[in-house]
Amino acid sequence: MEVFKDIPGMVEYIDDCRKNNDTIGFVPTMGALHEGHLSLVRKAREENAQVVVSIFVNPAQFGPGEDFEKYPRDLKSDLGMLLDEGVDAVFTPNAEDIYPKEFFTLVDVGRLPNYLCGISRPSHFRGVTTVVTKLFNIVRPDRAYFGQKDAQQAIIIKKMVRDLNVQTEICVLPTVREEDGLAMSSRNKYLSKSERARALCLSHALIKAGEMIADGNRDAMEIIEQMANIIEEQKAEIDYVAIVDADTLEDIGQVRGNVLIAVAVIIGHTRLIDNIMLYDIK
Ligand code: AMP
Repeated sequence: MEVFKDIPGMVEYIDDCRKNNDTIGFVPTMGALHEGHLSLVRKAREENAQVVVSIFVNPAQFGPGEDFEKYPRDLKSDLGMLLDEGVDAVFTPNAEDIYPKEFFTLVDVGRLPNYLCGISRPSHFRGVTTVVTKLFNIVRPDRAYFGQKDAQQAIIIKKMVRDLNVQTEICVLPTVREEDGLAMSSRNKYLSKSERARALCLSHALIKAGEMIADGNRDAMEIIEQMANIIEEQKAEIDYVAIVDADTLEDIGQVRGNVLIAVAVIIGHTRLIDNIMLYDIK
């Protein structure tokens, strides 16, 4: 497994892959890897001749007062896991190389970043789409793998790729959960034992929503109210509980068609997100 810190080294490696007509599967991450990330790596390994993983805690996607400084970093352990998964190359650039002094260009995907997480994190998705564009231009992947866990991110990246004719197929894979249902996240490391127990309110609220819809309830407000009760019982602060159209991310009154049910909750000092996607609800 090759590890590249510098952009020219990574570019040269990809040039060689291209010369060999190797397909390239790419998994962008911020490190502190867990089974969620590894599920993407395994799929990439199955589907491509070359698997490239990036580890970059992207300052541009953190807002003021967010957890950029304390975001968990453990490169040694990450590299061990990626070696075990048979990854070919890891890209671990510096922020100064990705964002040199005279860096101006930003990639902004119109309206979709204005909803859900974008309300409390106004510049977050612009930071994501800008860095993903840069990473795509360096790695030039045939396929890139993202998690459903970050549903809005996946929807925005798919839109960006369509709008800008990026020649990369975006593959979105299911959320990997702990045995008790908590969605895996690098930020789960921040939770104390009691916060970890309370954090189950996210998946419990989503399960409740799924049950209500399976029972025939289509009233989004009623479902949101029940979900909010479950979260508030755990003394967690709600950022949002939303039932939205899966394409436009706009709120819907009646649960029909393709629907994203998403929650963002602050437990202690940790902001956690989770969601379920339901298709073709009649
Ligand atoms: P991150 O390192 O948090 O930026 O995540 C890198 C990629 O892993 C993103 O595409 C995430 O959506 C994905 N990911 C993170 N957690 C999970 C999970 N629990 N299940 C599936 N994918 C995940």
